[in-house]
Amino acid sequence: MKQSKQYDVAVIGAGTAGLQAALTLGRMRRDVVVFSTDRFRNDPAEHMQNFLGHDGTPPAELRLAAREDIARYDTVSFVERAVVSITGDPDAFTIEVDGEPSVSARRVLLATGLSDELPAIPGLAELFGSAVAHCPYCHGYEFADRTVGLLGAGPHVPMLAQLMARLANRVVVLTDGAEVSPDVDASLKALRLEVHTGSVLGVEAASDGLRALLDHGHTVELGGMFVAPTWRQAAPFAEQLGLETGDLGGIHVDIMGATSRPGVYAAGDLAHHRDLPMPMASVLTAAAAGLVAGAACDRDLVMADLAAARAIA
Ligand SMILES: Cc1cc2nc3c(=O)[nH]c(=O)nc-3n(C[C@H](O)[C@H](O)[C@H](O)COP(=O)(O)OP(=O)(O)OC[C@H]3O[C@@H](n4cnc5c(N)ncnc54)[C@H](O)[C@@H]3O)c2cc1C
Repeated sequence: MKQSKQYDVAVIGAGTAGLQAALTLGRMRRDVVVFSTDRFRNDPAEHMQNFLGHDGTPPAELRLAAREDIARYDTVSFVERAVVSITGDPDAFTIEVDGEPSVSARRVLLATGLSDELPAIPGLAELFGSAVAHCPYCHGYEFADRTVGLLGAGPHVPMLAQLMARLANRVVVLTDGAEVSPDVDASLKALRLEVHTGSVLGVEAASDGLRALLDHGHTVELGGMFVAPTWRQAAPFAEQLGLETGDLGGIHVDIMGATSRPGVYAAGDLAHHRDLPMPMASVLTAAAAGLVAGAACDRDLVMADLAAARAIA
């Protein structure tokens, strides 16, 4: 790692968003340092769906191929270490790194992703990414033609039931004892869905999916189940940098990936454009956001240098 020089851009995170940003910046011969802890949101999943040209491939394969692409651009370097803090302003950000000297960069591009907090149901975490999923566009097709369970009673449940009704044989709602609002109740009744209102005591793998263990020894056999995790920022930088965030915890960005703080950009799962009704978190959208935010960083630097040149002309 270069210690004394100042990098053009520090990219924090080497998932799809960070890698694509690094590729875009490397192709413009920007000096870029990319940090990664080698933990990725889709680690629990063996297969990555709904990415053209890679539908069904292991997620790590795409990242490996991306690293090979980036290796052709020698102004990009990688540091496999956690960043612990970020301070400073445009042209003078300081990135403190766990066990390594700190780094200086003119711009910062955050791509540290989200982490998923699951309901505390025994067995759920073990099945998350296979028989238990959160995104119908990533995993819905894999549960097709079977009974699909929807865990919880939140306002998303009726819409998810409608989405999955196109794929599943049967949709069953397991509220896990949560209160069902009158609005959700009316939708569930209108859709004539089977609803279990008791607690889910546990889930376990079964030959064709999973088995949900309910009160009084009852069980429900399911081909797959959807859960709504609580999303958390995987790293503390939104708070450290005082970035504006939305109700769902995403860092607010403009259409080019700029955050509320000058010189700080964000791309991928951790960022949320306020015009989107919900975070559109997927590998492909993370890559696209990385490209856009990388280009926005580059353009920002170009414009700053142009302004500086004009000031001394
Ligand atoms: C179980 C599951 C299955 C999924 N399946 C699919 C699917 O089939 N298809 C699909 O399109 N999407 C899927 N997704 C969504 C997909 O995983 C994400 O949208 C995508 O990975 C987001 O990429 P990212 O680059 O934003 O974040 P990530 O891939 O999570 O990368 C985050 C990066 O930040 C780094 N990092 C974090 N903290 C620090 C730190 N302090 N210092 C340095 N580096 C740090 C990490 O090491 C990593 O390099 C799935 C998600 C889950 C949870």
